[in-house]
Amino acid sequence: MTEKIEKYKRIIKCPVCSGTIAYIEKKKIIGKIQKYVCQNNECSTQLVVKKDGILLNFTKKSDNELWKKYHHKKLTLREWNNIAEGGISDKEKEEKAKMAVLEQLRTGELVLQLTDEVPIILKKNEAPCLMLPNIQLHEDRMVRQRYGGAVRLMKGVYVGTSRGESHPERRHVDTGDLILTDKRLVFVGSRKSADIDLRKILSIEPYSDGIALSRSNKKNVEWFIGNLNAASITMKIEDRDYDLRFDGLVLKCMIEGFASKLD
Ligand SMILES: [Zn+2]
Repeated sequence: MTEKIEKYKRIIKCPVCSGTIAYIEKKKIIGKIQKYVCQNNECSTQLVVKKDGILLNFTKKSDNELWKKYHHKKLTLREWNNIAEGGISDKEKEEKAKMAVLEQLRTGELVLQLTDEVPIILKKNEAPCLMLPNIQLHEDRMVRQRYGGAVRLMKGVYVGTSRGESHPERRHVDTGDLILTDKRLVFVGSRKSADIDLRKILSIEPYSDGIALSRSNKKNVEWFIGNLNAASITMKIEDRDYDLRFDGLVLKCMIEGFASKLD
């Protein structure tokens, strides 16, 4: 089906009602207007050809599911024809494929080994999997803040009462390499390092640029933040290559997959 659709130079039918669609080209003083208009009077869907895609910008069928999903979206000719044939956009395909890969990583069905050299000493039967440079380690610490009516008389001498209240404060501890093996998550900074046994991890909160990690042998939450996007894997979808860029969720799923295989 895809191959057939590739050959079309025009949108073949209305993506909203599947009706006949006409291609209209009007000359202007500068440039021209190119658009598609659905010939079904109850639909009258319009798509306008822009420089960077074809924009779905009008329909009378505003209750239509496809309209709700794609209105004001700019897609390629191939994608619109795909949608008109009951398919989905490339972005959705990519999203679906990503979810499938994440699920395989999380269950340990898919094991990624993206590096074989890491700056740490590996233990027996330990395999390196991923190294992310330039990662910041932040820690949440409870800080007691004093405020209130105390008056400083001289250095170290206060008169009156003051109340203290604890609140968490995030501090940048160090920057370094974050290394994932099939057994450990290791942070190597210039001043501080962390050696985390995957079995000791209680929870991971994923973010686009990092993870927040809680573990059983440490009181404070640790944040590993940086450009995770620098790492990626290539997925193939219908003969097209897509880069699955890393984020906190990919990292979380990889960690969970390895942890599930440990006793
Ligand atoms: Zn239509």
